[in-house]
Amino acid sequence: MVEQVLVTLDGQVRDAETPLLYVDDLAVVRGDGVFETLLVREGRACKVALHLDRLEASARALELPWPGRGMWSRAVDAAAREWGSEREGWMRLVLSRGREAGGPPTAFVTVGPLAERVRQARREGVSAMTLRRGFSVDLSATAPWQLLGAKTLSYATNMAALRHAQARGADDVVFTSSEGRILEGPRSTVVIARGKTLITPPRDQSILPGTTQKALFEVAPDKGYTCEYAPLFPSDLIAAEGVWLISSVTLAARVHTLDGLALPISPEADDVASLVDLAVETVGCS
Ligand code: PLP
Repeated sequence: MVEQVLVTLDGQVRDAETPLLYVDDLAVVRGDGVFETLLVREGRACKVALHLDRLEASARALELPWPGRGMWSRAVDAAAREWGSEREGWMRLVLSRGREAGGPPTAFVTVGPLAERVRQARREGVSAMTLRRGFSVDLSATAPWQLLGAKTLSYATNMAALRHAQARGADDVVFTSSEGRILEGPRSTVVIARGKTLITPPRDQSILPGTTQKALFEVAPDKGYTCEYAPLFPSDLIAAEGVWLISSVTLAARVHTLDGLALPISPEADDVASLVDLAVETVGCS
């Protein structure tokens, strides 16, 4: 069975075991690029339009050359076909500024198998700890060069936060701003339930706007939920009837423990997980 699929933006399926990048690729030496990670389910890539919208917005924020949506769509389709329909996978779209020596941008799509951690988070939920991000919710507006709304390849601090939490016995992280407000996870959006109301922090306040949360908020009103964007504090998470870390590949990971405190199991818990499933399938697979 193929363990990873690699398709370059010209639509060519390549051997994923053969090195592709030059040593001076700006992705490698500067993290100067953008990416997307999405779910492949039943041989189709999920929420492609939302991911391409965000990839393009991220590329624009970094002033990267944009190869065009059509090329990405074709490469995504080719990679999903090559992966097949037998099992789920993650798909990554990568666009870097290219070589330091000059030339075209680097762009490719890869697909690989889901980590066991993902299945476990879906099944059992996660414990999380709050960690300070060290900036204000205003930073994205006052310092656009921080690229907070873009999904850049510079994820080293997000990974460091996860290792910090894991060394202290927590599975995941909820970042807080300098005002003590809830921001996001290092690879997820925070959503809470208050009865039949789903609430998430405002998308323009120093976080990455999540495609899964967006899709969830599109389908939830038809299922009797009200959806809101509002500032949240750690105490809101503790008082909520459910807290989830939502993302494209893991989907809905219920937070069962926050900073060592067990959170109650809500009647909405299963509901929200199946709503997220419905959302990623309804909002459009390629
Ligand atoms: N916030 C951050 C920092 C992320 O890295 C991610 C996903 O990787 C998300 C939020 C959730 O975004 P999406 O639902 O589009 O996967």
